[in-house]
Amino acid sequence: MAADQHVVAVDVGGTSIKAALVDRDLRAVEVLREPTRRVGEVADVGQIAELVNRLAEQCAARGCRVVGAGIAVPGIVDDDLGLVRAAVNLGWVDVPLREELEKGTGVPLLVRHDVRTGGLAEFTVGAGKGAADAMFMPVGTGIAAAVQVDGRMLGAAGYAGEIGHVVVDPGGAVCGCGTQGCLETLAAAPAFARRYAERTGRTVSDAAGVAALLATDPDARAVWRDAVDALATALLLAVTLFGPAVIVIGGGVAEAGEALVGPVREELLSRLRFQRRPEVVRAALGQDAGRVGAALLGWQAAGEPVR
Ligand SMILES: [Zn+2]
Repeated sequence: MAADQHVVAVDVGGTSIKAALVDRDLRAVEVLREPTRRVGEVADVGQIAELVNRLAEQCAARGCRVVGAGIAVPGIVDDDLGLVRAAVNLGWVDVPLREELEKGTGVPLLVRHDVRTGGLAEFTVGAGKGAADAMFMPVGTGIAAAVQVDGRMLGAAGYAGEIGHVVVDPGGAVCGCGTQGCLETLAAAPAFARRYAERTGRTVSDAAGVAALLATDPDARAVWRDAVDALATALLLAVTLFGPAVIVIGGGVAEAGEALVGPVREELLSRLRFQRRPEVVRAALGQDAGRVGAALLGWQAAGEPVR
């Protein structure tokens, strides 16, 4: 392998797109960030190709060459086909993203669901490093999971891992998906402030605002406890089905500190009977998980996977 090879890692979001030129040691040597460009409601695929091409030019100016790219996308994403079936906050339905971007860039690339991309990073170089059976579950605006079994990430044509829509509270609040009582209605970031306000009539900014009241406010503790119980219920199901040795919890709510991961670990472990007892740990890569995972995909696309 020549030392002058790099890959491009792209993290596509509804509000912004981050693209980085990344070396073999997974260090970002150039980073670009732009607001997501839209044509009407629909995010412009051409913008992603432009970012890849611009980083390839910058690479050439440094005397290096881009040999692959990895693209992390939210929504229902068929990783094998590089097909985005549906991405609500990008306005995409059945977009053959890999094909369009390969045409627009001439760079071999892989497209993957953003949570599975983060999982790839955590399972390769992060908190789940080396585990053949592992789960990554970011708790943020939404909740989803990357599930790896026997060293293989479960994709199921894009439909695997939607743990946020496991019903944990039958008859409970209506979820964005239309079902009542999904995990997200109790434990996704927006649920904390909403449930605290419903209970008390008082406003807090967000989940961190509820966390800040835990020492002094029984209502905050009750809201937090419901979220912990809901997460433990969903994880018990996942542990029973998939037998992970490591569960990596990430996302904005987990990054608030041990207030989430510690109690979830304790509650989950107390409910296990015959099941495998997983380690339950906080994510190691934080906001970088998408970029690192996309870079790992880029090296895979180049035929030189980093292990
Ligand atoms: Zn739902």
